[in-house]
Amino acid sequence: MNVFLSTLKSEFLDLVFPVDCLLCREQPALHSHTPVCGTCLTQLTPTGSFDTCLRCAATVGPYTADETGCPLCRGVTYDFEEVVTLGRYQGLLAQTCVNAKKPRNHAIARLLTRMLFEKHRQRLRDWSADVIIPIPNHWWKRLRRENSAPIWIAHELGQLLKTPVRRRVVIQHKPSQDQHNIKDVLQRRRNVRHVYKAFPSKHIQDRTILIVDDIMTSGETLHHVAKLLKANGAHTVYAVAIARGQGKT
Ligand SMILES: [Zn+2]
Ligand SMILES: [Zn+2]
Repeated sequence: MNVFLSTLKSEFLDLVFPVDCLLCREQPALHSHTPVCGTCLTQLTPTGSFDTCLRCAATVGPYTADETGCPLCRGVTYDFEEVVTLGRYQGLLAQTCVNAKKPRNHAIARLLTRMLFEKHRQRLRDWSADVIIPIPNHWWKRLRRENSAPIWIAHELGQLLKTPVRRRVVIQHKPSQDQHNIKDVLQRRRNVRHVYKAFPSKHIQDRTILIVDDIMTSGETLHHVAKLLKANGAHTVYAVAIARGQGKT
């Protein structure tokens, strides 16, 4: 079916069978391709007079971030070049990220990924990643079907960017706590330091890698995985997370 006919068909179906908003389940969704209502959409990505740090994706006050970073990341080492997120981990976006972790909620993870893609389409394309790698989970979490969100996000992004996803290059061989539940920076560092392992692979050798997580707190997890990938031959590492936790959030 050509694009015109497929658009016509989906608009017709939206008129005849309007779907409920995927998040509040109260109002009709805007479109079957954007299955949320206008109110939820505005709350997910609020606009205001703030800037986003290009280095750590923190939401900061106007004119406090430049190419060296922002007050939150200056002096912090990251082995990834840049990171983009959909927004700050707070309000409806935080609630939705928690929901996206639950089994069978991959539609929510996919929706958040498409929104992130729309927001950063050019930057993501400019990075020209050869491979996408989701931040792995320990086998115990996989067995209990806890948080597969990074995998769903990686696969959706892979389709949008037409880039292959590789899951077995990095593994989590020891359990860890969720980073956003730990408030102390040093404890967060210890929590992720020795839990991941990367393997030499032709898929990462001299390649540009895009690593993917659902929530970035201080960036420790993304930094450690980027470091491991580089130690195993990756040329450049960029990062994506749906939400950026800051301070109390
Ligand atoms: Zn809604
Ligand atoms: Zn920053």
